[in-house]
Amino acid sequence: MPSTACSQYKDIVIVGNGPSAISLSVFLSGYRPYYAGGTHSNVYLNEKLQKMSPKKSIVEQDLAFLSEGLEGRSSNPVGLLFDALCRPDADLGVDNPSLLEWKFEKEHAIDHVVLGKGKAGGAWQNMDGSMQTLSFANWMELPSLSFKEWQNSHPREDNHAHNGRATIADVRKYYSDFVENRGLQPHFRDQHVVTSIQKKYVTNKDVDSESGEVEPCKCRYKNHPFLWEVRGHCFLGDTGLDREEFCFCTPNVVIATGTFDVPNKLNIPGENLSFVQHSLQEVEHVLSSNMNKKSQDPVLIVGAGLSAADAIIMALKMKRPVVHVFRRGANDSQLIFKKLPAAIYPEYHKIHSLMKGKTINPLYKPYPNHSLVELKEDNHVLIQTTSGGDILSLDALCVAILIGACPDLSFLPYDGRHLGIVPRYTIDSKHNPIHVDPFSYQCVAETGLYSMGPLVGDNFVRFGVGGSLGIANHLFHTKNKCTQ
Ligand SMILES: Cc1cc2nc3c(=O)[nH]c(=O)nc-3n(C[C@H](O)[C@H](O)[C@H](O)COP(=O)(O)OP(=O)(O)OC[C@H]3O[C@@H](n4cnc5c(N)ncnc54)[C@H](O)[C@@H]3O)c2cc1C
Repeated sequence: MPSTACSQYKDIVIVGNGPSAISLSVFLSGYRPYYAGGTHSNVYLNEKLQKMSPKKSIVEQDLAFLSEGLEGRSSNPVGLLFDALCRPDADLGVDNPSLLEWKFEKEHAIDHVVLGKGKAGGAWQNMDGSMQTLSFANWMELPSLSFKEWQNSHPREDNHAHNGRATIADVRKYYSDFVENRGLQPHFRDQHVVTSIQKKYVTNKDVDSESGEVEPCKCRYKNHPFLWEVRGHCFLGDTGLDREEFCFCTPNVVIATGTFDVPNKLNIPGENLSFVQHSLQEVEHVLSSNMNKKSQDPVLIVGAGLSAADAIIMALKMKRPVVHVFRRGANDSQLIFKKLPAAIYPEYHKIHSLMKGKTINPLYKPYPNHSLVELKEDNHVLIQTTSGGDILSLDALCVAILIGACPDLSFLPYDGRHLGIVPRYTIDSKHNPIHVDPFSYQCVAETGLYSMGPLVGDNFVRFGVGGSLGIANHLFHTKNKCTQ
């Protein structure tokens, strides 16, 4: 379609509406962080903070200079910097106050829209609310609104968190309340699925010769050679049947779609049969709808990660027998359970203990060093040792294959493969994240295209939200250059 079909121009279009997008939206709406004083234990950072002009927001500072030398559990320096300022020394297990104060400066607001498949909150909208976060509660925080303060103003009978963690339900509610509390709703378009993003070169015909503006999109950036055309559809009403097309054109697109849209598959015969699930949500649905059925066929759970563990916890809570099939040995050093302190994650350690056979539960049967080989119509399941030994046949109420997920970037040219650290390969948060400039979060392969969150390797909200500072900083400096 020609660019003249653009329905609406925006300075920035954000695709995805999870914590990454929400945090960027708050920056773009005019909320800006300032150094509030106070000492940081990192002497180099502290020295730089002391020398910084207090009148300038962190958004205007030299982020490469400020973040130089910072180390931590993210490979993105701006993610580390933002975390160090919001939660000084968090890795030492302390809960120090933030070194930032936030000011609302309307004059710095940038026109933007946030497009998301579901409700604001992204992946958190699809998780089981009764489970607890892996992270400490305050690590789930978004810029400018303390999670602790939010919790204190939302007291609940069943107490929010255990061991400093939060429930998924609390995080989800905090994210939706955040959008409301910060007045971000006008920017958010829920139920909007982006299906294509394409570069459209601005032709002479599109440019007003006197003003230099792009018609009909009214691009604010003079002499901008191209715009991104973001197309998709939105659902009208609750039926999911009626939909309407939309199109935005913009010089800047931020891909914040996370990495959980496509569940990984084993690609074995029968995997598409109706008794096979690939998400915790589906498992919960099957378990709840079979609660009162007499059949004692087990739930067969495949995988040795936290989602598989969550499914086991859920099934055992409902007194449903569990057969647990996983490829690694129960003592394998790569298992996630080995990396979680028992005092903070007792529920996962209980599952690990069951997997090792250290604790016995008559409802739970582990099959370490096994894999699923085939699923049959009559709920018959074949499993085999990973060394290719004997094949066992079992009957299962349902089969939950919970072995991770990957992003769906089918809306980008080449499925986004040209954007990775290793071009031409599928984007994957661990092995091939989107290659962005470490300070601006702009894709190395595409001007005006940005990404943040797990897509650039930050799997935890704590560091992922730092991308919003990087992008806001870059836009601030670019805008100043464009308007000079
Ligand atoms: C079970 C589980 C537990 C977790 N626990 C923790 C934890 O304890 N601590 C922690 O820090 N992190 C945790 N994470 C990771 C955390 O969820 C992510 O780091 C975070 O949600 C990333 O935020 P995001 O906004 O980048 O992406 P997401 O939250 O994934 O949001 C992106 C949204 O964009 C939508 N989207 C995708 N494609 C399109 C499209 N074409 N058009 C419109 N919208 C689209 C997606 O459907 C999704 O809703 C957990 C993840 C899972 C799955």
